[in-house]
Amino acid sequence: MSVHSEKYEAVIGLEVHSQLLTQAKIFCGCSTEFGAAPNTHVCPVCSGMPGVLPVFNRRVLELAIRMGLAAHCKVAPRSIFDRKNYFYPDLPKGYQISQYETPLCLGGYIELPGEAGDGGPVRVRLVRIHLEEDAGKNIHAPDCSLVDFNRSGVPLMEIVSEPDLRTPEQAGAYLRELRSMLRYLEVSDGNMEEGSFRCDANVSVRPRGESKLGVKTEVKNMNSFRHVEHAIAYEIERQAEAIEAGERIVQETRLWDPDRGVTRSMRSKEHAHDYRYFPEPDLPPLIVPPDLVEQIKVEMPELPASRRARYIGDMGLTPYEAQVLTAERDVSDYFEAVIPGLNNRKAAANWVMTEVLRAVHESGRSLTEAAPAPAEVGALLKMVEGTTISLNAAKTAFAAMCKSGKGAQATVAELGLLQVSDEAAIAAACDKVIDAEPDKVAEYRAGRDKLFGFFVGQVMKAMGGKANPKIINEVLKRKLAGA
Ligand SMILES: [Zn+2]
Repeated sequence: MSVHSEKYEAVIGLEVHSQLLTQAKIFCGCSTEFGAAPNTHVCPVCSGMPGVLPVFNRRVLELAIRMGLAAHCKVAPRSIFDRKNYFYPDLPKGYQISQYETPLCLGGYIELPGEAGDGGPVRVRLVRIHLEEDAGKNIHAPDCSLVDFNRSGVPLMEIVSEPDLRTPEQAGAYLRELRSMLRYLEVSDGNMEEGSFRCDANVSVRPRGESKLGVKTEVKNMNSFRHVEHAIAYEIERQAEAIEAGERIVQETRLWDPDRGVTRSMRSKEHAHDYRYFPEPDLPPLIVPPDLVEQIKVEMPELPASRRARYIGDMGLTPYEAQVLTAERDVSDYFEAVIPGLNNRKAAANWVMTEVLRAVHESGRSLTEAAPAPAEVGALLKMVEGTTISLNAAKTAFAAMCKSGKGAQATVAELGLLQVSDEAAIAAACDKVIDAEPDKVAEYRAGRDKLFGFFVGQVMKAMGGKANPKIINEVLKRKLAGA
């Protein structure tokens, strides 16, 4: 908690650039593949040669509409590409093609998972989602600067939120939810390290109770969710301190310096570019056929917010459990494939969150590579429910299944893990233990209840650890009582 947080409230809006998962760039056929040798994915169009014509990649439209519908936006039947004019070495045309006045998607909202006790999900409204092309990348070597145009013309979707966020933690939650949605929808891989998910934050502060917005700064260069949260927290504190000291906040762009943990002024907005936007004359207006929107609606997968609600409402999971299980689609799909036929959904959720995710993390491989088929885990848990095996035996079997790839039945049989529930066999073992320990039996009957655990342990040992503990308890109680 900041020292000023009782007096001041932060107002945060986020702009996210997300690379769309297409094979080809937005206005030419060049590959979007990451990590190729510099300037190997370029052509006259994306390197900005004169006299070339851009051709719009329709796949971009489908992906962006998918995200727009998922975020409850209004999809514009007609939108426009503009030229955003500025000079920079990574922009050979001298302008970026972007949507400005008439974007593809308007309005909408993202629902954040609620924390327990804070009144449920938080809605963050969106201003818009628009399409644009990425620029190239400047690489600064010690003796020269170089430009790689492989990124130039890669399709981007810019998602702009209203200033509805109030804390760095909420900003982090918003970004995680957005990334999770993009991955569920297969619209973007959301990879921050490769630059396919980038975020800029607009931050201002105002005295609590004030409705007028303070002067905002724009914070850039945040390469992870943690950086975003740290940078915003720093910026809130810096602004509150400046106001306390009687200073004026200047509208400017600031860069996050992760090594020093501070934001530094990059440029003042007073010298901001005039981009002289005008409609791109080489591209016709973007027309969205109504049946395309309908078709995308039909093909929409279930999203994390809906799954969370179902896990909490129908299965009785906690908000935390629902959050962990739905953050990544492969984990959630796995859980969904484990539960058919099981009564105890909570136990299955715990199993996936602990045993399965641990096996995945320890192996460093993907879920499908590291964990047994979900139906086999379901079969294993079904045996626990039916008391055919104990929970500990299930853990032993699971570890073996991860290594061997064999099924639940075969593994349990092979390792001899079946639990003995035969009451006669258990009664015989109880009799033996009671006969062998007459002194302890006498002590127990004289009132030393604590000895009960000792007898259970002895019987379990005699049966090789495989007896049903519930039946041992019942039989022993009866026999020790003298029945
Ligand atoms: Zn190209």
